[in-house]
Amino acid sequence: MSLDFTLTRYEELCQALLQSGYVPMTIADYVEAGKLPAKLVIMRHDVDQTADTALKMARVESRLGVKATYYFRFKRRTFKPKIMKEISSLGHEVGYHYETLDKARGDYEKAMKIFERELSAFRESVQVKTISKHGNPLTRWDNVHLWQKHDFKALGVLGEAYMSLGEVLYLSDTGRTWGGEYKMKDWVPTKGDGQGQPRATPQLRTTAELIGLVRTGQHPALCLNTHAGRWADSPLGWAFSLMNDTAVNVVKRMLILWPSLKKERARRVEAVRQ
Ligand SMILES: [Zn+2]
Repeated sequence: MSLDFTLTRYEELCQALLQSGYVPMTIADYVEAGKLPAKLVIMRHDVDQTADTALKMARVESRLGVKATYYFRFKRRTFKPKIMKEISSLGHEVGYHYETLDKARGDYEKAMKIFERELSAFRESVQVKTISKHGNPLTRWDNVHLWQKHDFKALGVLGEAYMSLGEVLYLSDTGRTWGGEYKMKDWVPTKGDGQGQPRATPQLRTTAELIGLVRTGQHPALCLNTHAGRWADSPLGWAFSLMNDTAVNVVKRMLILWPSLKKERARRVEAVRQ
């Protein structure tokens, strides 16, 4: 049995999309398109941990003729102008993966100042047309809420990856699964202003299952979000990515369970008092 979440498996996914007639698009392509193709797939990547893995994935896509959007965090290990420029020169879009409400600990004005500063730093190297929020399950803020008080269009940004999608099926590899499990902040809301409930997603676990869905062609508009660091190109890299995902999922399970545990404890205390 071949392993999931390897660059080879990612290439198979790309091939299946192309063979099934999906036109790959960047987020900027999608936002700027006058008329959309009948069958499309928005290829999106969040560069959360290191930039090198993104470059490897970008090269695979470029070889296949697939265009994608790479959102880089403004962090020491991910904000790498040289790699960003190289990915851009391969024909991909480079965007800004912001987390400024987290950085400003919920102070909206401070968050906006950090946003402007970091966006300018990006624009010294690459053209930034679109942005996407980073979701940290350990903070109490949701970075996309910045746009409840400010307007990214005033800064020449055309779209936000969670807010600017029309009727598309959004699927992400967060949590090492394609289903809705473990996606604490990584979901597209039903409303375009970043509010509302998560959109419904099919029960999918493995990339082989996703490839099966792609081949049916039953969803003419897809948006796939993959984190390049998860898709290994060596056995050691694969084992490391598996361990990392497993550890993160354990923490997420606890975070999901914690409110119900607290409720249960309060109920027992109440029962003892009565
Ligand atoms: Zn992220």
